[in-house]
Amino acid sequence: MNAAPADQIRLLDLQAIDSRLDQLAHRRRSLPEHAEIDKANADHTALTSLVVAAQAQLGDTTRELAKAEGDVEQVRARTARNQQRLDSGAVGSPRDLENLQHEVGSLAKRQSDLEDVVLEIMERMESAQTRVTELTARLDHSTVVLKEAEARREAAFAEIDADAEKVKRDREAVATVIPADLLKLYIRLREQQGGVGAARLYQRRCEGCRVEFAVSDLNAIKAEPKDAVVRCDNCGRILVRTAESGA
Ligand SMILES: [Zn+2]
Repeated sequence: MNAAPADQIRLLDLQAIDSRLDQLAHRRRSLPEHAEIDKANADHTALTSLVVAAQAQLGDTTRELAKAEGDVEQVRARTARNQQRLDSGAVGSPRDLENLQHEVGSLAKRQSDLEDVVLEIMERMESAQTRVTELTARLDHSTVVLKEAEARREAAFAEIDADAEKVKRDREAVATVIPADLLKLYIRLREQQGGVGAARLYQRRCEGCRVEFAVSDLNAIKAEPKDAVVRCDNCGRILVRTAESGA
């Protein structure tokens, strides 16, 4: 393949531009915000589950309390009814009176036990409420952390993308003047060779693979016609000769 030395030099400009675009793409992929967002998302998901569980626990305890308070209320009502019957003097037989007084005594004990249960449930409800409050605060904080990291990522994206747009316009300007066959070879080699398709021959070295040429090989390369497209024997990349290629 042949190409004017000026077009071969332009290939080096294109390579520099493409490497810059690769760097920008790499920077975009490896922003620290990606890991921060992943972690913040995981925290947020875990905390959401914990809040849901704590709220369910609080709901259960609230229902448990309502039931226990209802039980106390029933006993109170029954005691009040019994007391009313005793006070009214309507209970005539001593046996009935004794039974009723006995029941009033049992009910007082039962009410006291049930009130202890109510207190115990109230304590548990208080800790359940505290847990809901704490977890909700942590969840809110994790939402803030997540949103901040997302905002920083978006800002970094915007900056990188603006740079990339500018570099892509430069690339377009350079690429359009390079002969199609040379450009095609460069693109193919760039894909095969980790992003570098064209390298300068600089001070006897291929700048693509860093191999240093023996004097005899260097002389053979220099002896090629100026418009010959030379490839590195070692890495296969297009080797662009410049004034600093070395003797
Ligand atoms: Zn090489």
